[in-house]
Amino acid sequence: MVDETGKMDGCPRDDTPVLFGYHAETKRAISFKTACKRWDCPYCGEVNRFRWSLRAAVGAREFVQAGKMLRFHTLTFPGWMQQNETLQRWRASWPKLSSRWRRAVDDLEYMYIHEQHNDGRLHVHMISTSSLNTRWWKENAPACGFGYIVEEEDVRCNVAVAAYAFKHLGSDFVAADSVSRETSVRARAEMTKQAAMHHWPKGWRRVSTSRGWPSLEEWEKIDGWEWDVLFSDDQLHDAVYAAMADGYDWQHVKYRDSYAAMSEISLLARDVASAVYGVSE
Ligand SMILES: [Zn+2]
Repeated sequence: MVDETGKMDGCPRDDTPVLFGYHAETKRAISFKTACKRWDCPYCGEVNRFRWSLRAAVGAREFVQAGKMLRFHTLTFPGWMQQNETLQRWRASWPKLSSRWRRAVDDLEYMYIHEQHNDGRLHVHMISTSSLNTRWWKENAPACGFGYIVEEEDVRCNVAVAAYAFKHLGSDFVAADSVSRETSVRARAEMTKQAAMHHWPKGWRRVSTSRGWPSLEEWEKIDGWEWDVLFSDDQLHDAVYAAMADGYDWQHVKYRDSYAAMSEISLLARDVASAVYGVSE
């Protein structure tokens, strides 16, 4: 789906329907194209990146407000390993290290992000409430099969956390820093092709959290909205016509913006947007 200026305004796949929502109390109606949610989709990959960055920030805000310190860590793999070996090593090593970690830290919460560097080797970036010192990591990470280099850094604000997540989720894209809302469909398609060269195994979880990391509120669950699922432009036109005849104020929103527009976290979303896009809207 491409808007009048040639920019993509929704998932380009044909099999993702349009959702049409009615809010009877406020007489608002909203439609948006749903998403395939795949990282290799030129539109949904960007949405994923934005949403996970936001989720990183929402968690950070909650933990900082609760008086916890946050830290960034990067785990590496032994230098002699090739791309596939690092991926296999992760599977073997993470259960060992994470169980040691949970034993050592009370109420541990974390988000980890997988990133493949230009040579395809895996790096793991983590945001956590862990208070352990460098020595603990230097002793325990290699003992579980990771490399000797463990970087760490203190964190002070949730916007930094969002920017950190955004950066590391985007580096699979060539020239990721230049990706913006203005990036053309063609340029995005090229970036996607480049990203595909990194070959994430099917079903690989590139980003994940501990259980207690807060999730984003799904706006489908906000009280009072009713939703129709539409599969064609004709159905959408009919729905819009009927809603407006009933006195509804209708708006088509971009999927990427819909969560921020509808939820209580819209202020935070604006902080994140300004941190990562360099815009204030
Ligand atoms: Zn998609």
